[in-house]
Amino acid sequence: MSFVKGGIATAILGAGMILGTSAYASEGYVGIAMPTKSSARWISDGESMVKLFEDEGYKVDLQYAEDEIPNQLAQIENMIVKGVDVLVIAAIDGTTLSNALENANAAGIEVIAYDRLIKNSPYVSYYATFDNFQVGVQQAKSLVSGLEERFGNGPYNVELFGGSPDDNNAYFFYNGAMSILQPMIDAGKINIVSAQQGMDTVGTLRWDGSVAQARMDNLLSTYYTQKTLHGVLSPYDGLSIGILSSLKGVGYGSGGMKMPIVTGQDAELPSIKSIVAGEQYSTIFKDTRVLADVTVGMVQAVLNDVTPQINDTETYDNGYKVVPSFLLEPVAVDVSDWEEVLVGSGYYQSNQVK
Ligand code: BGC
Repeated sequence: MSFVKGGIATAILGAGMILGTSAYASEGYVGIAMPTKSSARWISDGESMVKLFEDEGYKVDLQYAEDEIPNQLAQIENMIVKGVDVLVIAAIDGTTLSNALENANAAGIEVIAYDRLIKNSPYVSYYATFDNFQVGVQQAKSLVSGLEERFGNGPYNVELFGGSPDDNNAYFFYNGAMSILQPMIDAGKINIVSAQQGMDTVGTLRWDGSVAQARMDNLLSTYYTQKTLHGVLSPYDGLSIGILSSLKGVGYGSGGMKMPIVTGQDAELPSIKSIVAGEQYSTIFKDTRVLADVTVGMVQAVLNDVTPQINDTETYDNGYKVVPSFLLEPVAVDVSDWEEVLVGSGYYQSNQVK
């Protein structure tokens, strides 16, 4: 199992990033701004980074903004005032931080974009993330194999959901997925019965599961009273859980009505339980421990005036520049391999799921 674009194994990267940089001086104060605690992945990201930074001797200020842009702006400004040396930011809205980053730059603080690209600012030094286009490709491939497995040859009736339009990742996920699905739509193999396509139409502000659930309710009552739905492209587990409630609410998954194939992302526990229960079909595992490790390595390099390890200098244009990035490989999981991937890697214990 390889997590790193280009094929370096996790274990090697994990050890390499830390061992390779442990020769560096490790005084420093790091501010970490995370979007929300409402999704478990951001809690894991924060915990992993704090542990790694503290083990290396750094002081850390970790803040969560509960998905409120003004909170995140205030937290970042506060970190600047407290005198952090580096900021690691997973933006709520990647377009709203230009002034904050200007202030950081004026105070000599470098900024690393964590998981989500920060747009419209020249002051983003590096970006640590997963191969976000590939996440979408994997979601769509899993959707298609689920459709074939559960519903035979098709054609299939499918609905599409996108992530938050203020999160650059959402476009990469959607475009990655459509690179697989659009040719099938064009060939008549997949019908988007509602005809709702494009991020402007299918995006879900702030990745809110209740918004997705309401939209699914609406799609079902408007387009599926006479037709059967076979699949839903969902870009994030929190949306998938809302979508599944809506589907169950009209009888899918019971009686003679097979559950449509529903994808996801982040391997959150409620979704892994749902996969084990035969409801959600798949999710995408992004090992937040490895992303944290890469980011700690970046911060150490920056604080020691060394160029960090990067593996992509083409993909992430933020409006001012192409931000040098390190992309990790996501891994699709379903009922056949969740245990091997998630328990096998120590991300979860079996008893958290069963
Ligand atoms: C992250 C995903 C996450 C989503 C919602 C995206 O920016 O890359 O992992 O599912 O935000 O939190």
